[in-house]
Amino acid sequence: MIKISKHAIVMISNLKIKMTENPNIHEQQPFPSENLRPLGALSLGAEIEKSNNEPAVIAENLKRLERSGEVGQFLKNFYVAALNEEPILEKVVIVPSRADKRLKNAGGRAIPPDVSKSGQAELHIVTSGGWKPYKQIMASRKATATMTAEKLGIEPAQLDEKLFAAFVFVHELGHVVDWSQQFGYNRNNRRNTRLSEMAMLPIPHWLPSEVLKSKREATKYLSRHKDHLATKGIHSYEELAQAQDLAYHSMPTENRPDIFAARVVKKLIEQ
Ligand SMILES: [Zn+2]
Repeated sequence: MIKISKHAIVMISNLKIKMTENPNIHEQQPFPSENLRPLGALSLGAEIEKSNNEPAVIAENLKRLERSGEVGQFLKNFYVAALNEEPILEKVVIVPSRADKRLKNAGGRAIPPDVSKSGQAELHIVTSGGWKPYKQIMASRKATATMTAEKLGIEPAQLDEKLFAAFVFVHELGHVVDWSQQFGYNRNNRRNTRLSEMAMLPIPHWLPSEVLKSKREATKYLSRHKDHLATKGIHSYEELAQAQDLAYHSMPTENRPDIFAARVVKKLIEQ
């Protein structure tokens, strides 16, 4: 029998934030395994105190997520777990967002401190519209969904939209970790590395979400570079979108955040 605690209390320095349990979490468990406990029943309080120098930012982020409906409330546990893994994340400002043009096919976006409005690293994550936007991304970016399941060590059929959203969210946090670890937030190093990786994609410098957003442009590119793309086994728009997604996730600057996301998400679901 799985025991579910009524509330998980996260203590942040002298702040106490009550993480109200989300009743919906228990309706649907991510996997049929008995070894996994429901995601709402997490108590991660003790360790966060050690690393916390930015209680105000963390408290504000938790409040914003709490106010952002089912998705935001669900992601709170993953935020705390990621913070426990990487204290560098304590300065990140989380911005719950709508699935606008930019986020529709991605779910989330990390913005470096030298580019963001707040002057801190920002994480924009889709929380409006419930789970629907994530269901749509899983449907339109099948390669991403399959790879996510693979990285979590589960079957693709076991990946539901909640787990997928959690992975997207922690992946974006992983970008911030990566920027600080790999590039010391050095803007030129970060940009040059990214540019050289993006140049190797089937359509150089396009995000996979842009291939989905601009089908017409992508199809034009395909017909202009038919022979070259055929050598990579790409003959149709669908194959192009899939290949772009796969190649994108293989880029080191994307793979490292994926590894971070897998580590954090697995830790929570296997607890
Ligand atoms: Zn990414």
